[in-house]
Amino acid sequence: MRHYSRQPENDIPRRLILTGAAAVTSLAASALISTNLSRSSNSDEHANIGNRTSPLPNAASTATPAPQGASLSPEEPAVPGKDAILAEFMGLKPSQWGLQLPGTMSRLSTRIAGVVLTFDCCGGPGGNEVDEELISLLERTHTPAVFFLNTRWVQANPANAKRLAANPLFEIGNHGTKHIPMSVSGRSAYGIPGTGSPSEVYDEVMAAQDILSDLIERPPKYFRPGTAYFDDIAVSIVRKLGLTPVSFSVNGDGGATYTSETVLNEVSKAKAADIIIAHANHPGRGTAPGMSAALPILRASGLTAISINDPTAPRVA
Ligand SMILES: [Zn+2]
Repeated sequence: MRHYSRQPENDIPRRLILTGAAAVTSLAASALISTNLSRSSNSDEHANIGNRTSPLPNAASTATPAPQGASLSPEEPAVPGKDAILAEFMGLKPSQWGLQLPGTMSRLSTRIAGVVLTFDCCGGPGGNEVDEELISLLERTHTPAVFFLNTRWVQANPANAKRLAANPLFEIGNHGTKHIPMSVSGRSAYGIPGTGSPSEVYDEVMAAQDILSDLIERPPKYFRPGTAYFDDIAVSIVRKLGLTPVSFSVNGDGGATYTSETVLNEVSKAKAADIIIAHANHPGRGTAPGMSAALPILRASGLTAISINDPTAPRVA
């Protein structure tokens, strides 16, 4: 049973292009600290939430209250309805905008001896393909990863969505309904207008959550919007809805635009506890061969790919 209404999905012909490698690199080099934001699930126990480069103005005041009915039952977690979200967040003004806001998970929190691989499947025109070479690589090498699935990609690739969902090594994350930035004021990223209100933020998350909950038979725990951009109010809404907003600390494929050599170079730079973003919906690009070359190098340096929610992950000595 769903506790929210859906709006019609617009099939927006846009494609995520992440070009913020420089900003990401500098952020990845920063020592990060945790904020005091409340956790709406226990799925990010070893997550580093937020970073030291941003002040904490409105985010703290909007995110501190404990989520309503934050049951952790995997079958039917209590999630605030749309009315409750609007009552709490309507009229709040965002004060921050970016890829790694406080309250988002951009790295793991402790010096875990591993990295987390995340692959977005963005869907939509030009984005509905399947990188079979990449997925086969991960399957063949038993490599854990998070796949952030957009509604449009799931609908275009039901068999592959089931295939990913059926593999216990793969965590399925929510990559939104229309694949747009998360804003309460319509702010744009890479020319893509974001959600324009708390209501639209709710719909962007929860319509996809509905589809994905059916796919994996439980609600996804992690959310990354199209473009990965958030404002601070949207971060708080996503957390209130019981999801951990996930960003990244290493840009592995530049929105699937990098050559295999660049993918290899960027991924090989990863350090312990990094979260690497790449894509699984652009076959024939540099992502699969670059990852194939980079993963053995990471392993040789003690950085195996680990599950995003593995509390037993090995720690750096
Ligand atoms: Zn995407």
